Amino acid sequence: MAHDTRIAADTVQPAGILPEVFREAVAQADVAISITDTAATILYVNPGFERVTGYSLAEARGQNQSLLSAKTTPPAVYTQLWATIGKGEPWSGRLVNRRRDGSEYLADLMITPVRDGDGRVANYLGIHRDITELHRLECQVCNQKALIESVVDSAPLAMALLDGERRVVLDNLQYKKLTSELGVGEAAKIILDAVRAEHGDTLGVPRDGAQAFADREIRIDREGGKAPRWFSCTGTWVRSVNAATYAFFGARDSIYLLLIAKEITQQRAQQEQARMAALQAMMAEENRVSGLRESLSAALFHMEGPMNVLASVVAMQGRRGQHDPTAAALGEALRAGQQALDTLRRATPDLIGESVSAANINELLRDVLDLATVRLLRAGIMVTWKPQATLPVIYGRPVRLRSMFKALVDNAIDAMNTKGWQRRELTVVTRSRAGSVEVLIEDSGPGIPPALHLKAFEPFFTTNPGGVRHAGTGLSMAQQVVADHEGIIEIDADYDSGCRMRVALPCQRENF
Ligand code: FAD
Repeated sequence: MAHDTRIAADTVQPAGILPEVFREAVAQADVAISITDTAATILYVNPGFERVTGYSLAEARGQNQSLLSAKTTPPAVYTQLWATIGKGEPWSGRLVNRRRDGSEYLADLMITPVRDGDGRVANYLGIHRDITELHRLECQVCNQKALIESVVDSAPLAMALLDGERRVVLDNLQYKKLTSELGVGEAAKIILDAVRAEHGDTLGVPRDGAQAFADREIRIDREGGKAPRWFSCTGTWVRSVNAATYAFFGARDSIYLLLIAKEITQQRAQQEQARMAALQAMMAEENRVSGLRESLSAALFHMEGPMNVLASVVAMQGRRGQHDPTAAALGEALRAGQQALDTLRRATPDLIGESVSAANINELLRDVLDLATVRLLRAGIMVTWKPQATLPVIYGRPVRLRSMFKALVDNAIDAMNTKGWQRRELTVVTRSRAGSVEVLIEDSGPGIPPALHLKAFEPFFTTNPGGVRHAGTGLSMAQQVVADHEGIIEIDADYDSGCRMRVALPCQRENF
């Protein structure tokens, strides 16, 4: 033993450090250390080697290191081991070893070639430890990870873990699929924007286990005539250990947002069908009422002119003191006419009452396009629907807003649906602009001459005097509705391929 340890200590001894210290360090080290010749014949093993393998120095000395082989390590591993140390380079890896008592263990081995004074490899230093338990734990973690991943991936839910910068650090298959299907960037951003826009949720102060929001139903509109998709979303704060080295002795925990989105499009589609049926009935009633109002208003408007003339004549005759039968007849005609006007005014139905609520403009426009589908198809009009995926909520009167948009779409259809008109394209765009939601309704019809852009909003103005559908009150009604919502409606003067109506509605309004 004295001879063997001397070889090792002499070979590596730096100046000023006693060989005895090396001997004791090796002897007392809590790992299995062996020193061999270049054929792997054991010259020395430390007490740690005996603890790990069961072989004492006396039993191991003179034997090949293959004494430890359990004969299950693939030969290629040994070939690679020898090829490496044969070049004088260190090798490390894992081998299946067998102890003296026959039990197997997994060895984490490092072999370092030791050179003599001439620089030739004279010995090998082997250091190994039993990592059976560590390996078992690694496998357990791996298996659990695989199990969790397969459960998470097969769940019909999109899941993503977001860091403090709202970057996705972990996600499942469904989430990846959703992001690629939406095709407009990270799905998490679209979902969080929609939750904020539709429900006003801010994420609040992160607290482990707390919910930032729960069961929020959101709607994601898509371009190209694709049906919208609905999701029920929940955000939960979760704490996670930071694996970065800098965090080892510092603040190791970081808080993440676990975002879970469950698609509920199918359920919502059924609800939507029922809602559309109710809406159709409501719009039909509204159409009847507004048609009646429109006709009576037109009649009143047209009768008020001659009645005013008649009133002036009667007043003039009264001032001149004329009391002949003609004057009396005119006075009688005026009274009868005024009575008829009063009767018409009383017969004019009131607007259907509606209270203020949150309205999603994308939703209202989709309703309008759905309601107009039959007319659009019959007229052979190609529709391009370009909604911004999520829009801020508008506080207003959704029924009136919907009717207003319907009037604009009806106007566009009417403009293009004339005999011989070739280009029939309708484009509806929504986008949010500083504090407001903007809607563009473009048609490829003949357009309205710039000189009439302001006049077009006057009551009973029409570019189609022979038309039967409208008395020319659609745009004036639209202007009234937009004004009630403190918005702006205008005909885009820069658009010359037809008519483009631009409606801008403010998102948050006071004193409404
Ligand atoms: P072997 O016939 O010994 O060899 C397998 C392959 O290794 C052969 O294909 C051959 O190409 C190559 N080989 C073997 N000896 C040499 C050599 N002297 N020069 C070049 N190539 C050679 N093995 C373990 O299983 N467990 C251990 O804990 C372990 N510790 C080791 C510690 C040290 C310091 C060294 C140097 C080797 C150690 N070995 C260990 C490797 C061991 O020496 C054997 O090579 C291995 O156990 C395979 O033995 P075997 O009888 O199955 O096959």
